[in-house]
Amino acid sequence: MKIMKFGGTSVGKPERMHQVAQLITKTDEPKIVVLSALSGTTNSLVGISSHLAQSDRGGAKQAIDKLEAHYRDFVLQLATTEEGRKKADAIVTEHFEFLNIILRISFSEALNKDILAQGELLSTKLFSVFLEEQNIPHVFLLALDFMTIDANEEPQLGSIKVKLSQILKQHKDAKLFVTQGYICRNSRGEVDNLKRGGSDYTASLIAAAIKATVCEIWTDIDGMHNNDPRVVDKTLPIKQISFEEAAELAYFGAKILHPTCIWPAQQTNVPVKLLNTMQPEADGTVITEDAGSMGVKAVAAKDGIIAIKIKSSRMLLAYGFLRKIFEVFEKYRTSIDMVTTSEVAVSLTIDNDTFLKEIVKELEQFGSVEVDTNQTIISVVGNEIAQTEHVLQQLFTAIADIPVRMVSYGGSHHNITILVQSDYKIKTLQLLNKGLFGL
Ligand code: ADP
Ligand code: ASP
Ligand code: MG
Repeated sequence: MKIMKFGGTSVGKPERMHQVAQLITKTDEPKIVVLSALSGTTNSLVGISSHLAQSDRGGAKQAIDKLEAHYRDFVLQLATTEEGRKKADAIVTEHFEFLNIILRISFSEALNKDILAQGELLSTKLFSVFLEEQNIPHVFLLALDFMTIDANEEPQLGSIKVKLSQILKQHKDAKLFVTQGYICRNSRGEVDNLKRGGSDYTASLIAAAIKATVCEIWTDIDGMHNNDPRVVDKTLPIKQISFEEAAELAYFGAKILHPTCIWPAQQTNVPVKLLNTMQPEADGTVITEDAGSMGVKAVAAKDGIIAIKIKSSRMLLAYGFLRKIFEVFEKYRTSIDMVTTSEVAVSLTIDNDTFLKEIVKELEQFGSVEVDTNQTIISVVGNEIAQTEHVLQQLFTAIADIPVRMVSYGGSHHNITILVQSDYKIKTLQLLNKGLFGL
């Protein structure tokens, strides 16, 4: 059994959905198809929620109507029969009735999650109607019946495995399943989600749960590129990378993959393939245990980073000092990305500023604290990069004019990380493209 996940742009137009139906019926291998919401939908739903959070019902109503018009238009071109059109229209009606009802309910975080879930429910239900019209046998699965997260918002792989296999057992002869990415239930039994871009995570969790032959992530680009194609002109797809390299790139900003979607596939050794829906014949990228080659593979950037420096003359490398600092971050459940130390100071970075004030206040008992916002982590990733000759020289020659705030090297064999002010991000990525890849 294999997993095929299609992202927002892959299902964002009626003709693309038609194409997805072709792609999933090309082979007889049993498969679970995971769909995102149509492109733009989750953003619109986020907008509706924020109108409601600010008690702006008028704004919310306007956004709901605009989105509904988009879906009415979509189903006109998706369905090919009168009956199919009616069914698809009824689905749109059902979900927009729900959104209109919530206009009258007082806003809460649980309601917010219900709103955000509408996108994946709509896309999979509409796709299912289209498959039915085309006489393509399939089983519609509700991800809310098996995809769960615990009180720490971590997916419960063990429980997902048990629940999903029970469901699949009820459909022994079925060859094609369709389900939603992104959405899940939390420990309170409420509708929740795996965070933005989380459909990749759903696909990889399902792949791990059923030990799939492969987890295919179909998107709008021909694989993982060596640099961010949104800001660098000339980038090239990478044929093969390891789970470690991919995880590092995803975590440090390569948007093609959800930051934490690699571990389930890695844990169960299921290969992940990144493929292009618009160009299905392209090789794409294969992610397995095997990195394929040595040396620098790619560069990625993660914005919204905050650097914190704690300076103490009393201190610093006295034993127990770092533990005390880390305990503050642990207390506020804020994870640290980079750490560098000197004899008198420690600098570290976080990407979540929810408890920044509280953290700084507690850190001040250990010394003076400086905070720099608007920082970007630039990560250079490659197999055995630390042992690759001249890498550091090439890297620093390439970015000689860029002021670098922090450097982290040697933490792993496949990563060198630098921190720059966000204003320098694009320039740094461009310079690295030339200096490291000759592009
Ligand atoms: P989907 O909607 O299919 O999940 P995403 O928009 O989440 O697609 O991810 C695909 C996009 O990721 C590409 O269109 C590309 O602009 C962006 N991207 C950022 N970094 C990279 C990279 N290193 N390689 C490929 N794509 C990247
Ligand atoms: N629809 C969700 C989002 O836009 C999940 C996804 O597309 O992966 O974030
Ligand atoms: Mg995505």
